[in-house]
Amino acid sequence: MDAQQINLLLQDSAAHYRKRLLKKAANTAQIALDFGKNEGAPANVLIDANLLLNRIYTTNGIYQGEPSFFNTAFSYIVAAKRLMLDHVEHTERLADVLLYEGITAGGSGNYATAAERFEEVLNLSREQENEAGIISALCAKSNNAVLQNQFAEALEAALEAHNFLSQSAEADNEELLCEVLEKVAESYIKQRKYGDSLEYSQRLLQTARRSRNVEKELIALKFIAIVCSVKANYKIGMQYFFEALDKSEQIGYRPNTAHILVNIATIYAHLYNYDDALSRYNRVLAEFDDVVDDNTHAAVFNNSGNIYYATDRFTEALQCFTKSLKYAEKINYRPLIAHSLAQLSRAHYRLKNYETSMAYAEMAETHISELGTVNGKQINQLNLAKLYLRSQDLDRALELCNAGIKTAEQLKDDASILRGRRISANIYKAKGDFEAALEHQTQYSRLQEDFSKTQRNRRFLDLEIRHAIKEQEKEIAVLTKENDYQSRLLQQSDQIARQNEELLSVNEDLRQFAYVASHDLKEPLRMISSYVRLIEKHFGNKITEDKQQYFDFIKDGTRRMNNLLEDLLRYATIGKSGIDKEDVDVNRVLEVCKFNLKVRIEENNAVIDIPDLPTVYTNKPLLNQLLQNLLSNAVKFRRPDVAPVVLVRCEDRETEYVFSVADNGIGIPEEFRERIFIIFQRLHARTKYEGTGIGLAICQKIAQKLGGKLWLESEAGEGSTFYFSLPKE
Ligand code: ADP
Repeated sequence: MDAQQINLLLQDSAAHYRKRLLKKAANTAQIALDFGKNEGAPANVLIDANLLLNRIYTTNGIYQGEPSFFNTAFSYIVAAKRLMLDHVEHTERLADVLLYEGITAGGSGNYATAAERFEEVLNLSREQENEAGIISALCAKSNNAVLQNQFAEALEAALEAHNFLSQSAEADNEELLCEVLEKVAESYIKQRKYGDSLEYSQRLLQTARRSRNVEKELIALKFIAIVCSVKANYKIGMQYFFEALDKSEQIGYRPNTAHILVNIATIYAHLYNYDDALSRYNRVLAEFDDVVDDNTHAAVFNNSGNIYYATDRFTEALQCFTKSLKYAEKINYRPLIAHSLAQLSRAHYRLKNYETSMAYAEMAETHISELGTVNGKQINQLNLAKLYLRSQDLDRALELCNAGIKTAEQLKDDASILRGRRISANIYKAKGDFEAALEHQTQYSRLQEDFSKTQRNRRFLDLEIRHAIKEQEKEIAVLTKENDYQSRLLQQSDQIARQNEELLSVNEDLRQFAYVASHDLKEPLRMISSYVRLIEKHFGNKITEDKQQYFDFIKDGTRRMNNLLEDLLRYATIGKSGIDKEDVDVNRVLEVCKFNLKVRIEENNAVIDIPDLPTVYTNKPLLNQLLQNLLSNAVKFRRPDVAPVVLVRCEDRETEYVFSVADNGIGIPEEFRERIFIIFQRLHARTKYEGTGIGLAICQKIAQKLGGKLWLESEAGEGSTFYFSLPKE
């Protein structure tokens, strides 16, 4: 395999990577790298392979949230760096190496190292006037800032990248453009500049769709969904979220899938569709626990707790709030600590654990008094009011209740205002002030009505959304069906073309398998045969004749297996590559073939008759292999008592040359004439004619590769003629 073939494999891998078929991409690039190393490929090719593998593993690490992938990714960077040290002529690749090193570091949470690398890349790229390098470094810098919650810096870097890109020669580079648009849109979202974000997100969506970049497409969908939801346009927001979810699941981008699920759940919860909300939150905890951060954990538990509480499942609510408290403490987010404590107090109250409830309320109060007006304050005040009402401390209860209502009004928490009115009615009742109680009760009823109206509206919206999403899914199903129908109407030739494509992809799998198998199996085989030889040497003439026979069996087996692997490898490597053509003198090629087959020809006393043959514009190594296989078979499949005579001929037709190799051997019965072209198919016992059954499969593949065909005529018992055509230029 030469550098060109390795490059083709790398291109293959990069295409898989672009589609985020990460396993496939990694396998292909690894094969390229292994072959490259074994066959001494040029350093720049090896650097490419290492960098591509680094990117694949880094992305995999980010998608799976799996730290070990980052270690692997790092090992490829180390290898690329070593190659650059050994081959100083490639220092122009340093910017790439540093960029990817930074991205891997950032992915694994090492932001400081990442920042350092990006700064280096930026300087270096400016020095080298490498525009793509500058833009990539700025995007990476922006991303790194987002990861550390430095949103102003993120926006600044992203905008700089955007300006630079639009003025540079890279302005049409859609991959870079996606990167830049994503960073600008994301930074705007983080800065809560939703209108600006929407503009860039929409451009991102267009560019990503045009360049078939699934990852960026789904990110654009998600950004648009977030903006819509923030603007309370839940219906459209949800549609975008669902589309994004679908794409994210397709490519297995787990943290992103989790994030979208949380968003969907939160909107459902807001619309009082508790079942759909809970099922999403639970899915996040069940499937994505390892990739969601502490912030998200805290939010998921808190929101689920609220739902359980609202639906009278207090034990479950308790469990959730205990966990949201734990996570809020871990990230030291005090408003959520206070809120969780207040909610714990409420849940305990409902479970009639009044003392525990009081204890939590007091803890919450300690936090809240230091925080000012935060969400949770009103909840705790009202809860304390209820607790004091229970212990008949009515003045304190009333004081807290009024304060609670006021806070709730400030925070526009209608549910709490409502609850406050009911509690104050109860307090006045307990005080014996029935007039005031009645007044509060009336206010409560009025508010209750308004509240129910909002609730009804939201529930209605929820129904509408669910309906829209079902329609969306149906639409997709219909589209797929229409496609099916249309494709059924396609001409037969199209069907054949499609089948061919499938076959090609099956072949492609086989080819990859064959690479790996033949490559990896050869090594242990070599070990077996060298140890057998060692043992043999060690025992020397102490080996008895029958034992010697065992050794011979082993040696014969390993030799055959080696032949098989070599043929298989040869078969596998013909496939993919583009081929160089040149003027090839077929006479010279046949001379080489004859030289290679010298022993076989002499042993069999074969006569090979070759007239003067033309020069053809084709690929020399492949033609050589094709002719050599045919000649070799022609001599090998001889009749025991008739010396082989082989005639090579060429017919000069208008658009093609037709070569033939005719023998006077055993011939091939009619019923086997197709089968022999299938890999591993042989008609004879190995003891009679040696072989692997791959030769003709190779020949056929070569003939196709060279633009021609391979076929045969044969008379069983009398001989066979194999023909192949080669197009004139
Ligand atoms: P191999 O030679 O390793 O067995 P091939 O793929 O070259 O594998 O050939 C497949 C089978 O086709 C052979 O095993 C043999 O049975 C048959 N064959 C090929 N070439 C000839 C020939 N010139 N004459 C008779 N049989 C042939």
